[in-house]
Amino acid sequence: MESESTSQNNNPSSNNSGKKVVIIGAGPAGLTAAYELSKEGLRSVVLEKDSIVGGISRTVNYKGYRFDIGGHRFFTKVRVVEDMWEEVMGDDFLERKRLSRIYYKNTFFYYPFRLPNALWGLGIGNSIMILLSYIKSQLFPLKPEDTFDKWVSNRFGNRLYELFFKTYTEKVWGIPCEEISAEWAAQRIKGLSLLEALKNALIQDRPSNKEGVIKTLIDSFHYPKMGPGMMWEKVSDTVSSENSEVILNADVEIIRTGSGKVDKIGVNVNGKIQEIEGSEFISSMPIRELIQKFEPKPPEEVCYAADMLKYRDFLTVSLIINRKDVFPDNWIYIHDPRVKMGRIQNFKNWSPDMVPDQEKTCLGLEYFCFEGDGLWTMSDRDLIELAKKEIEIMGLAKTDEIDDGSVVRMPKAYPVYDSTYLEAIRIIREYLAQFPNLQLVGRNGMHKYNNQDHSMLTAMLAVKNILGGNYDLWKVNADQEYHEELRKDTYIEPKEFKELSETQPQVPIAVARGTNGVEQTIIRVFASIDKLALALSVGAVSGGAIFIATMLLILKGGSVVGPNLSLLNQYFIGYSVSVEGAFIGLGYSFLWGFIFGWLFAYLRNLFTGFYVYRVKKSAELSSFRDFIDYI
Ligand SMILES: Cc1cc2nc3c(=O)[nH]c(=O)nc-3n(C[C@H](O)[C@H](O)[C@H](O)COP(=O)(O)OP(=O)(O)OC[C@H]3O[C@@H](n4cnc5c(N)ncnc54)[C@H](O)[C@@H]3O)c2cc1C
Repeated sequence: MESESTSQNNNPSSNNSGKKVVIIGAGPAGLTAAYELSKEGLRSVVLEKDSIVGGISRTVNYKGYRFDIGGHRFFTKVRVVEDMWEEVMGDDFLERKRLSRIYYKNTFFYYPFRLPNALWGLGIGNSIMILLSYIKSQLFPLKPEDTFDKWVSNRFGNRLYELFFKTYTEKVWGIPCEEISAEWAAQRIKGLSLLEALKNALIQDRPSNKEGVIKTLIDSFHYPKMGPGMMWEKVSDTVSSENSEVILNADVEIIRTGSGKVDKIGVNVNGKIQEIEGSEFISSMPIRELIQKFEPKPPEEVCYAADMLKYRDFLTVSLIINRKDVFPDNWIYIHDPRVKMGRIQNFKNWSPDMVPDQEKTCLGLEYFCFEGDGLWTMSDRDLIELAKKEIEIMGLAKTDEIDDGSVVRMPKAYPVYDSTYLEAIRIIREYLAQFPNLQLVGRNGMHKYNNQDHSMLTAMLAVKNILGGNYDLWKVNADQEYHEELRKDTYIEPKEFKELSETQPQVPIAVARGTNGVEQTIIRVFASIDKLALALSVGAVSGGAIFIATMLLILKGGSVVGPNLSLLNQYFIGYSVSVEGAFIGLGYSFLWGFIFGWLFAYLRNLFTGFYVYRVKKSAELSSFRDFIDYI
């Protein structure tokens, strides 16, 4: 929702004290909003339909074995978010080394890739075929490049696509790669910004610095000692102890709107509907459901747009293995088409405190599915049996080593970016703009593929808006660019909030990523030269110079006029230091100048084109390192 506030007052002031904020959802976004509000001395009520906090970032506790809904790394370039994590977690915020591999045809490949390991695993024959397929893709790219398979093949070669991207992508999204648009790939898997690549190639001290930071962020991450849920449990405790409320098992069923605002919320708590009034509302529940709960009903077009929003669902089967060490990775990507699981987490390697008994291991097998499909509707017992079988197929553990298991289903784990979602969101935003006291935040709350940090940032900015700020939450960036582009100097410092809201309604990320002076210089330097224009100018200047020089010598006169310049007639046949010769010299010089200018522009364009191509290719190849993290 675009903030309609016009006030530029970013200071919490006394006129805020009467505000009561109602927050839907106790995931990272909702709880961050409550936390920020309580810091400002404002009361809030958080309504959570589940019986625990944390949303998708919860940690489930099964008989003392703790596991996430997919492992949750804590990493960000948003300083204020990192500050909050550190403030809440203190010494319980661990720094962990990342080890993850790809499992494919009984072989483990380090991921991000390590060349010797990849070559060894693939074998010489396969490696040569990959190289040939890469060369082929560069010489004869597939056209039109309109689908995911073509997009990836054109960058890395068809063979690598088949080996490392096809099966996993199809498991995650549940549709053939030929049906995923190339646009989605380009959007998700950026890091291939030509401008950024050129900047890195040109600015001497940047690559090492950048690589250092990125390497650290790819190779290690933060993690709360007892899983991400620990973070959100602590935040919930903090806000509850400060005059705010977090109500669990509170399912929001009605959003009652009046003239120009949301008036109250009807919430089902233990089977009873309660009406909760507020002056400000923040929602992190899925947009589709939010719109369905509006009373009176929004126009048909808006309801239809909401119904068009789609999700990918997710379930995880945790298995308790009666073995101290099963594998050393935090997680493994499963590209093997023989099994249905997409990824497997080893929570003990995220933090030893995730298991109560160090002689045992707790694995989380991740299955991507659609609510209501065969996997989703399978009984827990059958899912555990399936997981046991698959773990044995992979040779990671024997069925008789598995002590116990449990299943957690997470609906709407991924907002789907299909061909209609942007238009649907536009229609919904336009409709919601009439309710300035309702702000949408978070992942499903905005239908954005947000990680925790961006979900939290939207919530922080929503609170700033309540305090009188003027931020456009939709400008918070959900793309993966920050995986790659993280630099200490793009961290959002708290003071920037103020500066930004004072200038215009946008978030700092937009500033960090905007075209700055360096980028504009790069654009100018690499712009191609117009051959005809340069040829004409050089021709005109050199022709003019000879003409003027000849005329000056004639005017100067003397017994022998222009003996030196007249030597030019060895090249310019017919030239002499005379009025006629001045015109002949002009013609010749113009011609040679023209040819020189044209050739210079041609060669310069050719070489810069080649340089830009080389930089682009090397950026593409380096993005291959952590490509799968973006899928
Ligand atoms: C498999 C997987 C792995 C991930 N890994 C990472 C990672 O490594 N690092 C990272 O930072 N992020 C990761 N994420 C993303 C992260 O989980 C989300 O960005 C984050 O949880 C979003 O927070 P949120 O508060 O916006 O939404 P949610 O976590 O979805 O919370 C929304 C809350 O609203 C509640 N709610 C919904 N409807 C209602 C209603 N009608 N009434 C009341 N309450 C309602 C829900 O129960 C939920 O608790 C991962 C996500 C997935 C699916």
